[in-house]
Amino acid sequence: MSVCKRIVTIDGPSGGGKSTVSRMLAAQLHFTYLDTGAMYRAVAYQCREKDIDLGESGQLEALLAAIRIELLPPEAGEDDVRVLVDGQDVGRNLRTPEMGMLASKVSVLPLVRASLTRLQQQIGASGQIVAEGRDTGTVVFPDAAWKFFLDASSQVRAHRRAEQLRSKGEMVDEQQLLAQIIQRDKDDRERTIAPLKAASDALTIDSTGLQVEEVVRLMYEKILLSSCCREE
Ligand code: C5P
Repeated sequence: MSVCKRIVTIDGPSGGGKSTVSRMLAAQLHFTYLDTGAMYRAVAYQCREKDIDLGESGQLEALLAAIRIELLPPEAGEDDVRVLVDGQDVGRNLRTPEMGMLASKVSVLPLVRASLTRLQQQIGASGQIVAEGRDTGTVVFPDAAWKFFLDASSQVRAHRRAEQLRSKGEMVDEQQLLAQIIQRDKDDRERTIAPLKAASDALTIDSTGLQVEEVVRLMYEKILLSSCCREE
């Protein structure tokens, strides 16, 4: 029987425009957008709220067994998905550079990765999703029909992230942001489990000199031109 695994994965370092691109592409394809980074941020947030000792596997297991993470479409005019943790809207608290660093720290923990990977695979089980993150093409959905790796220079990524935060009225130290982005990418690339890297069958796109719309068009055309069906 011919079965379509209609899943798109978009991986890459922080600030490369993955979220905007993924959201726009998902809308064009009428697919669901899955922001896996938001899930790591949600776990990081809850670990901080509950003062979890990350070295204590019992505490972490209890938290992971109990946590309820819900991802909802962004509010009108907003870019980021809404995130409910145990029913509470914590969206804004998750998007700070500090929470990005903490998410990176919890994301190296095998218990956290196993739990969130399982959840992501359940969400994607019936296909029709655009998943973005660091390991969606390599680990979470290795059979995805279309895989992309979105890169850009660290300076451009820091500048884009700074503009994004400024547009929300936040004060930003761009040099500090650049240093954090470089550190987070290094940690994400060098970790042992599910490191940030392009899947061998992913198309890498460098968005340094490209507008978001151009990146989305490149991906959309690539998807339209290729078949996702394979025999099972
Ligand atoms: O994409 P975002 O910046 O929200 O991700 C926050 C952090 O979560 C990343 O720096 C990374 O450490 C972790 N992450 C991950 N695997 C994913 C998505 C995010 O390890 N699939």
